[in-house]
Amino acid sequence: MRILIGGGSGFVGRELSRLLRDKGHEVTVISRQAGPGTITWNDLEADGLPPCEGAVNLAGENLMNPLRWWNESYKKDLFASRIDTTKALAQAIAASPTPPHSWVLVTGVACYKPSQTAQYTEDSDWTPFDLLSRLVKEWEAAGWLPQDTALKTKQVVIRPGAVLGRDGGAMKQMLTPFWLGLGGTLGSGRQPFPWIHVSDLAGIITHALEPSSDTPSPVPQVFNGVAPANNTNYEFTKELGRVLNRPTIFPVPGFVMNALMGHERAIVLTQGQKVAPERTLESGFQYQYPDLSSALKQIVGS
Ligand code: NDP
Repeated sequence: MRILIGGGSGFVGRELSRLLRDKGHEVTVISRQAGPGTITWNDLEADGLPPCEGAVNLAGENLMNPLRWWNESYKKDLFASRIDTTKALAQAIAASPTPPHSWVLVTGVACYKPSQTAQYTEDSDWTPFDLLSRLVKEWEAAGWLPQDTALKTKQVVIRPGAVLGRDGGAMKQMLTPFWLGLGGTLGSGRQPFPWIHVSDLAGIITHALEPSSDTPSPVPQVFNGVAPANNTNYEFTKELGRVLNRPTIFPVPGFVMNALMGHERAIVLTQGQKVAPERTLESGFQYQYPDLSSALKQIVGS
């Protein structure tokens, strides 16, 4: 298959491209910068969708960009980078005389309201309650295809938790302090910490790209991109310390996280949701790293 990946140069995109190429697929990345195997967003707008059987969007300003202060301009970029690129791809798909058979949008679990008790599945109802859930709402809406295209192209939305891998995401920023023995729980530590290993997320996206024999549904099918293990931040912290053989005795209180990161963003780490990958499991997807121990051992050992 020929697969087009918006934001394919990033942390998840590199893993996905590797997996797809290993399976014999051809990958073209859409980026802000031209390069080999890459088209730009301007090319997409000017020339329309290149021939492809699958399209994915992973583009977006990094929510944990350590080089940027949490301010209005950053928030604007978080929205625009996701919504504009998603809209551009959805419009190019709708305008194509030969649309791909699959369109996969990767968003996030921030749509589900943080709670230590509620358990969310792909069928849980949710309405936006804060900045990040509003972002998910507008982002997913930007990806919806018009009805005539939706009858030809399967629409999938994947909502990942924190993506764990050596080369990016939260782990890249956490490994050094934990190596130095400066790691600890965040906030109360009791909050759920939905996570997924980057290889499994790439696997779920690849699974979603496969053509389906069913008539596509007019509404996107949602898959929670989280590992089936339900862990708290405390469990994650202790397991990472154990795998690294380091103490984890420096908790970071919630108010410090809020001051450092901004309350609206710190929520991702200081509060959390119990998210079950019910439909992902029902689809027959086999996780390589279903539990924290196997995931963290692979990341630390790699
Ligand atoms: P990255 O931070 O690695 O970014 C992906 C790509 O987005 C970059 O390579 C870049 O491509 C493009 N990009 C960055 N900033 C902008 C911008 N301002 N405008 C347009 N494009 C931009 O993301 P990940 O691979 O970690 O994540 C992929 C998707 O999954 C994202 O949408 C993210 O929100 C979501 N997600 C990620 C999680 C995680 O833990 N990593 C958790 C939950 C959801 P280029 O420079 O080539 O244009």
